[in-house]
Amino acid sequence: MRLSHLVTKTKKASGEQDPSRNAALLTKAGYIQRLMSGAYSYLPLGLKVLNNIETIIREEMNALGAQEILMPALQPREIWEKTGRWDKIDVLYTLKGAGDADLALGPTHEEVVTPLLSSFLKSHRDLPAAVYQIQTKYRNEARAKAGLLRGREFRMKDLYSFHLTQDDLDEFYNRTIEAYLNVYRRCGLGDITYLTYATGGAFSKYSHEFQTITSSGEDIIYKLKSTNVAINKELVEDIDALRDIIPDFNGQLADYVDEYRAIEVGNIFKLGTRFSDAFSADVTHADGKNYPLIMGCYGIGSSRIMGTIAEALSDDRGLIWPDEVAPFKVHLVSLCHEEWEIEQANTIYERLIKSGISVLYDDRMDVRAGEKFSDADLLGMPRRVVVSSKTLESNSIEFKPRNDPGALLLTLENLENILLDPT
Ligand code: ATP
Ligand code: MG
Repeated sequence: MRLSHLVTKTKKASGEQDPSRNAALLTKAGYIQRLMSGAYSYLPLGLKVLNNIETIIREEMNALGAQEILMPALQPREIWEKTGRWDKIDVLYTLKGAGDADLALGPTHEEVVTPLLSSFLKSHRDLPAAVYQIQTKYRNEARAKAGLLRGREFRMKDLYSFHLTQDDLDEFYNRTIEAYLNVYRRCGLGDITYLTYATGGAFSKYSHEFQTITSSGEDIIYKLKSTNVAINKELVEDIDALRDIIPDFNGQLADYVDEYRAIEVGNIFKLGTRFSDAFSADVTHADGKNYPLIMGCYGIGSSRIMGTIAEALSDDRGLIWPDEVAPFKVHLVSLCHEEWEIEQANTIYERLIKSGISVLYDDRMDVRAGEKFSDADLLGMPRRVVVSSKTLESNSIEFKPRNDPGALLLTLENLENILLDPT
């Protein structure tokens, strides 16, 4: 993609009303733009990031054996009455449809997926089953001041699993934990994201959150010194819970944990029969009798992950995208002015693309070198490549990883080798 063709431009200041770092940086760089509190447009570079994150999630969910579906965001009141949640969920958006019908905009989809899957899952031979969707969710959040971290309209992957037995749910739940950890690792957050015990759903003592350590996080977690597991501070009110998670607990929390601020980037629950009871979602077991489906639900915030990466992995110069989520692998800066130099730069751009490397090409003629470099830092592609009359003289190209101060002079062949095999 030629930067001269990109519809967005970087801004000197974000002009953001949000004080949050992610919104300020992403707006300044032209990745997103706020329509109102909690609702953002995703611009070309921003949508690429969101899509890359969702591709990673999709691949990991498919690898679990879950099947992708898409359910309506627009939902009738009746299903929410069935579970008693029409009046209980304070963030539920409700509206009037034609004929005065009461409708909700889905904040989550247990009320839709349970009767939906129940219409297919009739016999023990149909189980286990798991479906997921990646979709826009709606929550009337009281405070939506943290950019992509807390949207009123936001993106979520929600997975629902259906089982005959508690053991089978447990086995799938544990595999989901591994799949989630893969997602965070591939999104560049692996080193700072922890499986975290949190208060449970209706059926289990605990749920599990995935919390990414960041100074701007809303939550406080206690990370165990001995393992890569954490406990949400809210949970620690209950001292018995600490004894469950830390068997030799001596009453002195500081001996066992370190305290951090963190962002909840995922949450998984064992639902048991809470929803199958409400919808009479029964299945016939091998003994010929009917029993309710045993369910789990597993959420991950894809737009919140994007905001979290912007918060946690950026520096004072701008964004730093991890390889798999970056809109482009390479930011090619041309400082060429002579016609033959420009032709050389164009050839390098085309050759990289032919090798299958995605490139953002700063071919702008009317922009100074300093501004091009600061834009490259702000936009945050993982690698910067510079072509100038100086590099062309020595038949080379300057190469610099975004998060590394040192630049190298390489031949085009060497550059291609590095880019095609980054290990
Ligand atoms: P929170 O406690 O932050 O309000 P939650 O526990 O209500 O979140 P879940 O219902 O567990 O959220 O949703 C699953 C995931 O969706 C969360 O772990 C988070 O990553 C994401 N998410 C939830 N609410 C929002 C929101 N308003 N904006 C962006 N992402 C969200
Ligand atoms: Mg949660």
